[in-house]
Amino acid sequence: MIWYPYQQMKTMKAPYHIINAEGVYLYTQEQKLIDSVSSWWSVIHGYKHPELNQAIQTQLEKFAHVMLGGLSHETAQKLSDKLQDWLPGDLDYCFFSDSGSVAVEVALKMALQYYMNRGENQRTMVLALEHAYHGDTFKTMEVGDDEDYHFVLHAYGASQNVVHIPTEIDALEKAFERYHSKLNCFLVEPLLQGAGGMRMYDVTFLKRARELCDQYGVLLIFDEVATGFGRTGNRFVADLVLPDILVLGKALTGGYIGHAVTVANHRVYEGFYDDNPAHALMHGPTFMGNALACSVALKSIELFETRDYMSKIKKIEQITRREMQGFCHPEVKEVRIMGACICVEVYEPDAIRGYQQFAYEHGVFSRPFLNYLYAMVPYVIEEKELVQVLQTMKDWFARK
Ligand SMILES: *Cc1c(COP(=O)(O)O)cnc(C)c1O
Repeated sequence: MIWYPYQQMKTMKAPYHIINAEGVYLYTQEQKLIDSVSSWWSVIHGYKHPELNQAIQTQLEKFAHVMLGGLSHETAQKLSDKLQDWLPGDLDYCFFSDSGSVAVEVALKMALQYYMNRGENQRTMVLALEHAYHGDTFKTMEVGDDEDYHFVLHAYGASQNVVHIPTEIDALEKAFERYHSKLNCFLVEPLLQGAGGMRMYDVTFLKRARELCDQYGVLLIFDEVATGFGRTGNRFVADLVLPDILVLGKALTGGYIGHAVTVANHRVYEGFYDDNPAHALMHGPTFMGNALACSVALKSIELFETRDYMSKIKKIEQITRREMQGFCHPEVKEVRIMGACICVEVYEPDAIRGYQQFAYEHGVFSRPFLNYLYAMVPYVIEEKELVQVLQTMKDWFARK
């Protein structure tokens, strides 16, 4: 049987059984639902997209997969060329992997080894944010700050190798002053912290982080697994502030196949590039550079560029602001909107208990967590569908 994620299996309510999906809609036997979650924020073009389906089919006629150990292929090559062109600055070196968590692990390994290769063995520490989420593998849990994973803290005690700070410039400056000689990187979800509660913060914090990283020679890593491909209203936050390492996942393949990439700049790549075999990056996920994943990622990026997705995202933000204007309720602490992300934070989790079923009955799939009711819709959503998603949220609070 299936062991479901993030659930107490004993008390879990039965998941909705999906029998078909097309555009922004999920279909159960009896209901048609707008997916306001985009399958964990990844399905940006909607389901069963004819061109994405075709890209996979075309690749499948050749082969589904070959490993990148000792082999290479045109589709992975094309994707790395495209990313090199498309991403800002000298973020040119693409290390593929099969999931966001692994891609963050690779970034952390790169940052640590970058300094080990230079003989700076004391740089073992990672600076990260309070409420950070970077994945579910052990090192990503360690650099994360998600209450759901604090059992790990209880088991091992607080890590000596990670410092967490709030998104305040004061705290940032103090941390650099105190730890700079031991830090190898500052890892952040830029502008929007997703799983930690859809927390939004200002770009000035990132600009100051870039300055401090330059001043003290610390690598800046952006985990854009969630924020990448337009979610914040920027194509990438890396377009505003340039990191040394950029991590992409989720929407990379338009939500079709699990794949991710850790993109290093020239400086990081050079830190590994020499005659010493011990200075190589010792990592290699079995399915890295999977041909089906790369083919659909290429097509996804092409759609994003040629169909002017950035203006779709601007429109989603405008409609969201218009619809939520003046919305308030005694149970609601704050409404946050950034790009194609909206979060309604309530004071007590009880205030949104039962929302999922309510939304289901109103033709919307939603998955609130803790105090957060949110939507991250597919970018192809129509205005009236988006209004339905937002109206359902407002109706929930109006009903009592
Ligand atoms: C989802 C997520 C991850 C983990 O990605 P997986 O593909 O689930 O391993 C890492 N970082 C951020 C910011 C994410 O939102």
